[in-house]
Amino acid sequence: MAQPSRRLPENVPGDFYVDESCIDCDACRQISPETFRDHGGQSSVYQQPASDAQELRALMALLACPTASIGTVHKHDTRAAVAAFPSLIADNVSFCGYTAESSFGAWSYLIERPASDGGNVLVDCPRFTSPLVRRIAAAGGVSTIFLSHRDDIADHQKYAAEFHAPRIMHEDDGARRLGMERVVTGRAILELDRDLLVIPTPGHTRGHMVLLYKNKFLFTGDHLAWDPDSHELAAFREVCWYSWPEQTRSMERLLEYRFEWVLPGHGRIHHDSADAMHNLLSKCVRHMKQTR
Ligand code: SF4
Repeated sequence: MAQPSRRLPENVPGDFYVDESCIDCDACRQISPETFRDHGGQSSVYQQPASDAQELRALMALLACPTASIGTVHKHDTRAAVAAFPSLIADNVSFCGYTAESSFGAWSYLIERPASDGGNVLVDCPRFTSPLVRRIAAAGGVSTIFLSHRDDIADHQKYAAEFHAPRIMHEDDGARRLGMERVVTGRAILELDRDLLVIPTPGHTRGHMVLLYKNKFLFTGDHLAWDPDSHELAAFREVCWYSWPEQTRSMERLLEYRFEWVLPGHGRIHHDSADAMHNLLSKCVRHMKQTR
């Protein structure tokens, strides 16, 4: 719960504010860029919501914040913001909101599919919270949980238990120790069904994997994201915990695939044509090879 007494001085006066507990995860700035900004190491409110739509986005950011660092002076009806998650990105793919502090605010996604197509897939895990669990249940529950790597698993046990959903994770990221129902080994591509391809991408962690859905949506965990500053696809050397050369090779391997969306755990989402994505990815690989 945000504390008015800990309100950051960088906030403009008014109803919405961020307090000192902000961990700079970037979620609020992505969800509600018209209200929140990065003032250097943390977020703050630079402009109070000026319309109902902006207020809804600010309240969604408040719900999504992993550390409950966003507060309001006045009480708000949050029902519309609660109902907005999972929040549609495109087709049948949504952002779950409700990020978890244990995964440093990593984003998780829900792919909604009929049972005849294999059912819904939860990609990485959000915070386990009743409003979201009810919304996911109403959308048909979860048939499979894909976990890209060890850092973004949040409340995976609770989601697996709630929806009786098998979890898929790589053995090199501790899948056996964590009790995963399906353990990926080695570097071979795994076809979960006709639309879902699991691609091991060691580098950020030893057992990192990405998930390709319908040759359109690439769920990238912490392997690849859009960099809004350079306007390029990027991997982040400073948070590569295992091996940069391995991550570079893994990135090069992705050039064999076509996709239009990059949906990361951390970093920004990007959408473009498959050809443009290929060019951006090629540039990213070149840049990685030049980075030690
Ligand atoms: S969502 Fe919360 S923790 Fe993340 S940057 Fe915003 S205020 Fe900080």
